[in-house]
Amino acid sequence: MREVILLKLGEIALKGLNRKTFEDVLIKNIKRRLQGAGAFSVTSRQSTIYVEPLDDFADMDLAEERCGKVFGVVSYTRAGTAEKDLAKIQERAAEYLAESLEAARSFKVECKRSDKKFPYKSPEISAQVGGYLLEQFPRLRVDVHHPDIEVRVEVREQNAFVHANAKPGAGGIPVGTGGKAAVLISGGLDSPVAAWTMAKRGVELTAIHFASPPYTSELAHDKVVRLLGKVSQYAGRIKLITVELTRLQEEIRDRCPEDLGTIILRRYMLRAAQRVARDEGCLCLITGESLGQVASQTLQAIACTDAVADMPVFRPLIGSDKAEIVKIARKIDTFNTSIEPFEDCCTIFTPKHPRTKPTLEMVERGELAMDGQPLLEEALKNLRAVHINGY
Ligand code: ATP
Ligand code: MG
Repeated sequence: MREVILLKLGEIALKGLNRKTFEDVLIKNIKRRLQGAGAFSVTSRQSTIYVEPLDDFADMDLAEERCGKVFGVVSYTRAGTAEKDLAKIQERAAEYLAESLEAARSFKVECKRSDKKFPYKSPEISAQVGGYLLEQFPRLRVDVHHPDIEVRVEVREQNAFVHANAKPGAGGIPVGTGGKAAVLISGGLDSPVAAWTMAKRGVELTAIHFASPPYTSELAHDKVVRLLGKVSQYAGRIKLITVELTRLQEEIRDRCPEDLGTIILRRYMLRAAQRVARDEGCLCLITGESLGQVASQTLQAIACTDAVADMPVFRPLIGSDKAEIVKIARKIDTFNTSIEPFEDCCTIFTPKHPRTKPTLEMVERGELAMDGQPLLEEALKNLRAVHINGY
């Protein structure tokens, strides 16, 4: 084929003996993401993954966009393929990069030759291609320090490639190499960003959402599905499990001290979540909490919530400011959905004056006013599950 997408591997290149496994998972993830974009072959050679269209129907724009959302890739670029012949490489560079070269004032050529049998050495190839481009684009000048455009020539085993516009990849490590985690997902801004942040470190996500119909609506659930759709463009397929907490919430409202209502609800959320998580083979929970953001996110409140957890609870946004979270939400395109106004089970029955510095003893005593266990068991019997795939 005349054009390919080259993906450079990130940290996974450093992973020693695990490297092969990491690469295999990454290739599987890329293949899955390219479904619906046409027929491609995806292969790996020398720390680079080659995405090659197999026919003229393959949608390269779509494939490129999707490759930009695969964790484990540091940079990616579309590249023109050339036969391994110096004149052919020169011509291909001039033709394939014509648009960029016309728009630029200065350029330089960098060459990498991994095929040591190719008769010219890298500096020589750079000089020859550079000279040819100067002839073809007389307005250009060479600037080796700050060029507008850096033309890259790679001479590899089977082909040579020319490219100039590498983009930063999604970074991180391939999803599926880091075990499974359950993210507590609301319709808010924070939890989708928390989910994305952990998926970036290679974990496969299961999502748990708490609903309290009729106080929360089906539209709120639909919002969560749409948010996870965006996250799954990066994180791959996500199973969403919805747990109804209506009865538990009513009981907390009717029996427990009002100022502790939110903390007690959050403790029940964690109890329910870890039961679901364990059944799904997840090793930890993830939440979108950020220190001091609301009453239930003070250190004291988080300590009281965490006291019921017997698996690790990760809060990847704990030290992030709202502005930093919003920046990621915009980047992953969850922002506009997150700000749609729907009730969340955390925003119904909220106490007028929630306690910001509860002690564990205070909360445990407050909780004794109700018998939540049977209601928790009941809620766990009526789970609803959907599978979400962002494409
Ligand atoms: P978010 O923006 O994620 O909604 P928030 O700032 O509104 O967070 P809270 O409502 O206190 O804060 O929720 C803190 C965390 O608890 C959320 O990030 C999420 O992980 C979890 N959570 C809150 N509501 C729900 C829910 N309805 N279902 C599942 N998890 C929830
Ligand atoms: Mg919320």
